Amino acid sequence: MNYFSSKKPYIIAGPCSAEDALQLATVSEAFTQLPIDMLRAGVWKPRSKPGHFEGRGEDALKWLNDIRTAYALPICIEVANKEQVELALQYNIDAVWIGARSTVNPFIVQEIADALKGTKLGVLIKNPINPDIELWSGALERILHAGIENIAAIHRGFSSYDSLSKYRNKPNWAIPIELKRRYKEVPIFCDASHICGNRTLIPFVAQRALDLDFDGLMIETHPNPDNALSDAQQQLTPDQLGQLLSSLIIRTPIDDCSQEEIEQIRQILDSMDAEVVDLLGKRMELVEKLGRIKGDNNMPIYQADRWREIIDTRSQWGLKNGLDAEFISKLFELIHDKSIKTQIDLLNTIAVNKQA
Ligand code: PEP
Ligand code: MN
Repeated sequence: MNYFSSKKPYIIAGPCSAEDALQLATVSEAFTQLPIDMLRAGVWKPRSKPGHFEGRGEDALKWLNDIRTAYALPICIEVANKEQVELALQYNIDAVWIGARSTVNPFIVQEIADALKGTKLGVLIKNPINPDIELWSGALERILHAGIENIAAIHRGFSSYDSLSKYRNKPNWAIPIELKRRYKEVPIFCDASHICGNRTLIPFVAQRALDLDFDGLMIETHPNPDNALSDAQQQLTPDQLGQLLSSLIIRTPIDDCSQEEIEQIRQILDSMDAEVVDLLGKRMELVEKLGRIKGDNNMPIYQADRWREIIDTRSQWGLKNGLDAEFISKLFELIHDKSIKTQIDLLNTIAVNKQA
């Protein structure tokens, strides 16, 4: 049985970096009053630029081993190569996480997977920094193939060049949801701290994750966040963590008597969706017919005025039906892109056939 599925939500908390023995003892003492399942602490810190705090290394492993015994608290750390896995084993660490900067690199993930073979370490796999589900699922498969039983994925958001974003790493929720669909047996946790990059947004992101049926949370917690040696803006105090955990709404179905009603509504939705797809097919047939006429009359396929009219009218129809304009314009952007592509492909085929 995968211990990461033993409790829902499974809560991992602790400092971004293990800084000294007192810091670790202070959070662990506070955690005795909170429902914390595992302590996290970075021992080697991957920093974007040199010259910043890079972690306490082996000293931190000694402190963590002591904490593990004193507080009976399972410990997880980040590893980024084979030597770090071996040191984790030497100091009785319970689980390791593969950081976002390692998941992007199949060589590193394979090296870690090989080092993990035959061990009892739990493994948490963070998403890669770029929004690429294949890299994330590839890393998961390398670890599964190594025979690891205690495995979970961690969603920590995706890097982007958008300086106006309210997130440090954008959540792109569709990606972890797709991962969950592909790997039903692998629990998925949300690292709200690295998604947000600041304290204020964390409760909102953590709640969103639970509403999306995530299996657990990873929250960075430090006795004195403002003076933390890494990620100072996003760490909570143990008190703030306690408040967050007690304010979360955990959605567990009360009973199954509403199941029948849900099934009925789903059946109606299924038939509505079938109608929508049917209409899209018919729409596409007309689009092809239109493409042929444009081709015969030597007209350009894309006409900006028509496109503007589509967006304006459809958004207004949407508003009348209680649908927001952004949703409708995105939907029609997708439909229009496909229509244009279909017409271009059609005209190219006609041109090639004429030449032949
Ligand atoms: C961390 O958990 O402190 C960390 C460095 O995470 P990530 O790999 O998500 O950036
Ligand atoms: Mn961090």
